[in-house]
Amino acid sequence: MTKEASVFSQRDLFLFIGPPGSGKGTLAEACVKNLNWKQLSTGNLCRQHIAEQTEIGKHIDFAIKSGKLVSDSLIVAMVNDWFSRFLAMHQTVILDGFPRTVPQAQELSALLEQNFGDAQLKIVQLEISDESVIQRLCSRYLCGNKECQAVYSTAPGSALAPKVSMVCDICETALIRRKDDEESTVRERLMGYYRHEKALLDFYRERGEAIQRLSVEKPLEEVFVDFKQLIGLEKQ
Ligand code: AMP
Repeated sequence: MTKEASVFSQRDLFLFIGPPGSGKGTLAEACVKNLNWKQLSTGNLCRQHIAEQTEIGKHIDFAIKSGKLVSDSLIVAMVNDWFSRFLAMHQTVILDGFPRTVPQAQELSALLEQNFGDAQLKIVQLEISDESVIQRLCSRYLCGNKECQAVYSTAPGSALAPKVSMVCDICETALIRRKDDEESTVRERLMGYYRHEKALLDFYRERGEAIQRLSVEKPLEEVFVDFKQLIGLEKQ
């Protein structure tokens, strides 16, 4: 029996709530790599649609570039499709960037009640200052391969620096800058984010869900250890 299976008995869905740049995706990738979990990133799904120029991709291109949210109905449709293909296959899944609004959270609850009654939602709120978010996002780069989308940083001394300048360590594709990581767009995204975050947290509090808090104002390795301790995978 794996360590994970001995701690978690039912299907666990970890919901990471945190502003853009708080490292939801990076922490999720660490969980995928080290714990064999599965990540559902709605941001990655959106960027895949845009790169493949699907009908949805053409529709959401402007919203993404300008840092606005994509409509709830499109996001829920993407998540529905992803769940039907992957959820039954994985014991532990990280929801990275979904739900972001109360209607999305309501849809998620309905979806789980109807199709995945054994699923247990575990909410983790990632805490970080706005200044750190802006600094991080302005030095963030992404693998240009839409199937990969690994995240890197050019901040001095960052553990996320690529081994070869501006090239992905995993698939050797050139790194690109996300259009929505320009500073003015980041500020817009942050303002929009906080508008929805409070309502989302209130929604889960009113349902009596526990919300665990994780400070992410430190290097990934330390955040990952803290996260494992928080959820009982590693002793304090
Ligand atoms: P992310 O990679 O999570 O920062 O998401 C990048 C962009 O994708 C966001 O700024 C939104 O435009 C869009 N997006 C991702 N997830 C959602 C969601 N759950 N609801 C609405 N828009 C989303």
